[in-house]
Amino acid sequence: MNSTRHPLIAGNWKMNTSHAEALALAAAIAAESVSGVDVVVCPPFPWLLPVKATLLGSTVSIGAQDCWPAPNGAYTGGVSTQMLQGLVQYVIVGHSERRQLFGESDDLVRTKVTAVLNANLTPILCVGESLEVRNSGGADNYVTEQLNSALGGRSESEIGSCVIAYEPIWAIGTGAAASSGDAEEMAVTIRFSLDALCPDVSQRVRVIYGGSVTSANCVETLGQPNVDGALVGGASLKPELFLPIVRAMAD
Ligand code: PEP
Repeated sequence: MNSTRHPLIAGNWKMNTSHAEALALAAAIAAESVSGVDVVVCPPFPWLLPVKATLLGSTVSIGAQDCWPAPNGAYTGGVSTQMLQGLVQYVIVGHSERRQLFGESDDLVRTKVTAVLNANLTPILCVGESLEVRNSGGADNYVTEQLNSALGGRSESEIGSCVIAYEPIWAIGTGAAASSGDAEEMAVTIRFSLDALCPDVSQRVRVIYGGSVTSANCVETLGQPNVDGALVGGASLKPELFLPIVRAMAD
């Protein structure tokens, strides 16, 4: 964490929660009064509206887990950023589950980032390598290529509007979080890559870590100078697991 960047903790609920569970979870998170940290919840699409209503009057923001880049049209099941405008502030783009399970390419991720930026929303751009890539020593290059593909050729203000989530695939949902040293090292690599894309922007962009974050491991990882927060999956589904992570980043 660096004092010039505001920390961010985002909960990715994935395809979890019933309507009632979503409202109860949102209410518990909204009831916590914290300062010094941006808190975001990303519920499934059908709960965005009721969760937004539950969060009203709190400082908690809402995000979508995905989007489709076209504004409207014959895209069955798609949800455009036009539809999300006014409803959410953040949109997760390029999550490894979308890349792996839904076959999303780097090109599609780029078009989604464009759509999110054009809608004046904040992309939480996920990047991260597989265990195979890490073990082969190619993690830095792999992540840099993902960043270049999504952000190459963009303006300083566009890149400055993004949040980058470093999410090594081998750490997601496995209980095997990256060490604080590995998270910090990749956050530095990401800043270096951002600098190469656009000088001056890298110290402004928030780089957060995701992958089996818990209240037990967050203090050390999120205390690293280049790690500005966390994208939390499993532990975001229970207030008693999520809120201690939020408190660890608060003033
Ligand atoms: C995620 O899917 O973004 C994630 C980080 O999941 P988990 O915290 O469960 O590893």
